[in-house]
Amino acid sequence: MQSESYQLEPIGYIESPYKQKFAIPRQPGLVKSAKGSIRMLSPFDHPDCFRGIEAFSHLWLNFRFHETAKQGWKALVRPPRLGGNERKGVFATRSTFRPNAMGLSVVKFLGIEQCGNALRIQVSGLDLLDGTPVLDIKPYLPYADAVPDALGGFADDAPTTGMDIEFSPEAESNLSRAADYPELRQLIIEVLSQDPRPAYQRGPVSDRTYGMHLYHFNIKWRVNQNTNQVLQISPE
Ligand code: SAH
Repeated sequence: MQSESYQLEPIGYIESPYKQKFAIPRQPGLVKSAKGSIRMLSPFDHPDCFRGIEAFSHLWLNFRFHETAKQGWKALVRPPRLGGNERKGVFATRSTFRPNAMGLSVVKFLGIEQCGNALRIQVSGLDLLDGTPVLDIKPYLPYADAVPDALGGFADDAPTTGMDIEFSPEAESNLSRAADYPELRQLIIEVLSQDPRPAYQRGPVSDRTYGMHLYHFNIKWRVNQNTNQVLQISPE
């Protein structure tokens, strides 16, 4: 059979609080307060394209792993859920290093916002980097898509880490000055509860300071036993 290739064009771009890959949750819905939107491109920014969508609570997003796409794919990958030292076949994982670099996430649909010429689909529970190209949007159909007796393989349950989150006095005072972002505290709590450290750095104590970007804030934290201590939240 002759090989074929297709050209895909984005229908919109993700606007997300996650400005870099580090600390993004590994699946959608794990960080419920991660709100964002899909800014639609013309001609898909016409409200007609979304007529009836308000009757659905969740949407499937097909997107491109644009940040890692150039690195290609590998037959065997090391899923983070297995501590990074066991290998599974790419099609048995949700790895970003896959043929066609296509991603799939189910997100909560919050509404449509029209502001001047711009049409945005607002969603929450994102696991996507800011600027991710969206290739398609479909409604989530519970009768067909929810499979109550499905098996989750090596990732049968949502990951739990038991991590507590503490804010230093400095971080508290930083937060009090970020009034435009009332959800920032909750977002930080949910993101850090996932323990974004790579498996090989996980240990009860480390003197290392970690950093991540959420919105335009640079957030620094440290790990002590089961607690993530947020040290500083500085606007950039
Ligand atoms: N739910 C998706 C994503 C799973 S991998 C799917 O199953 O297809 C999740 C990881 O993808 C996140 O932790 C984040 O680090 C990474 N990611 C998110 N957006 C990305 C992008 N645009 N390019 C590359 N990696 C991305």
